[in-house]
Amino acid sequence: RVATMSQSTLGLERPLSNLLAFDQAGLETLCASWGEKSFRARQLLQWIHQRGESDFAAMSDLARGLRDRLGACAEVRPPAVVQDVLAPDQTRKWLLDVGRGDAIEMVYIPETSRGTLCISTQAGCAVDCQFCSTGKQGFSRNLRLDEVIGQLWLAERLLAQSANTRVADRIISNVVFMGMGEPLLNYDVTLAALRLMLDDRAYGLSRRRVTVSTSGVVPQIDRLRDDCPVALAVSLHAPNNALRDQLVPLNRKYPLHELRAACSRYLSAAPRDFITFEYVMLDGVNDSDAHADEMLNWVNDLPCKFNLIPFNPFPGSALRRSPNERIERFARRLTDAGFVATVRRTRGDGIDAACGQLAGDIQDRTRRAQRQSASVPAPAARALKEIPLIQLAP
Ligand code: SAH
Ligand code: SF4
Repeated sequence: RVATMSQSTLGLERPLSNLLAFDQAGLETLCASWGEKSFRARQLLQWIHQRGESDFAAMSDLARGLRDRLGACAEVRPPAVVQDVLAPDQTRKWLLDVGRGDAIEMVYIPETSRGTLCISTQAGCAVDCQFCSTGKQGFSRNLRLDEVIGQLWLAERLLAQSANTRVADRIISNVVFMGMGEPLLNYDVTLAALRLMLDDRAYGLSRRRVTVSTSGVVPQIDRLRDDCPVALAVSLHAPNNALRDQLVPLNRKYPLHELRAACSRYLSAAPRDFITFEYVMLDGVNDSDAHADEMLNWVNDLPCKFNLIPFNPFPGSALRRSPNERIERFARRLTDAGFVATVRRTRGDGIDAACGQLAGDIQDRTRRAQRQSASVPAPAARALKEIPLIQLAP
């Protein structure tokens, strides 16, 4: 820290480089600029991501000079935890501060045979789907790599602390990009984060255990197929353009026939795989037998599964969740046609950690929230006030 102190005495303090913002190539460039060999970058990557270490002094196989240098001008800093809550079903939600008045949310869902982390890629979302409280809050900005991979880094560390294990023991087995934001509209950062997740020297997750969920950004679905074909979930929600234009406004740009073709092309890169179609069940809007049949007709012979999501209401939305019998009937129509259809169990009830309730608390730089519903309280503010559950930190 000596260098930083003398810089600061001179009024020349430079911010520390946050190494969570560096992928493998970035770490190599950094090491090269210091005259270090490239294997140092690999060691650093392992220390930071595989072992969850943030203290350079503890990185025992790095040369002393490098450790000192890192200590003077670098840091490993994930987003700050503002709130940490646990639901009775053990779903755990963190509210993370990403600066300038924006907070994002991250959720951990433990199950018997796996542990899934749901992460965010943007503060808010510009796609503005009718049924999504993130969308209704507007859009602030794309998250940076340190903020996206920093969620996984941080969650592994916090979960290991709670379970009294080491980060390297890996509690998280699956990652889903289903938090706030549209991952494919923050493509480069999403891709860099995916590559770290799959890297054996970092998180070592298999590509079938990492799922990107998209509202259907067609050109970026193609890019992801070429760059890093992980599991893909497509938020369908409507089987015809007239309805999907309303529910998912991005459909006006990439209509259903283009989306269908992109899904086929995606699977051509991974022939044994399938696409998951997410379909939020909205009472009287998209949940009739005719809608199910139209959807079956649209998918035709595409290898896919359906995940029906009972709509999670939020303040200010006029939409209603389909009754359970309707959801079951819709699911049966799909399974009778030979498809796998699951109904998503609502997790994290009571802490607003369910799908589409991840609202964080963002500064809407599009001013959409004001334009649309000046009187509706921001969902995150409501969540902060109402949570009756175990508050773990800070
Ligand atoms: N932007 C991406 C990923 C984040 S949303 C996408 O749209 O796919 C993750 C999933 O939650 C999507 O399928 C989304 O449509 C769904 N969702 C959004 N709001 C919801 C709500 N209020 N109730 C249930 N599911 C919702
Ligand atoms: Fe954005 Fe996804 Fe919400 Fe649509 S459902 S507004 S794409 S986060």
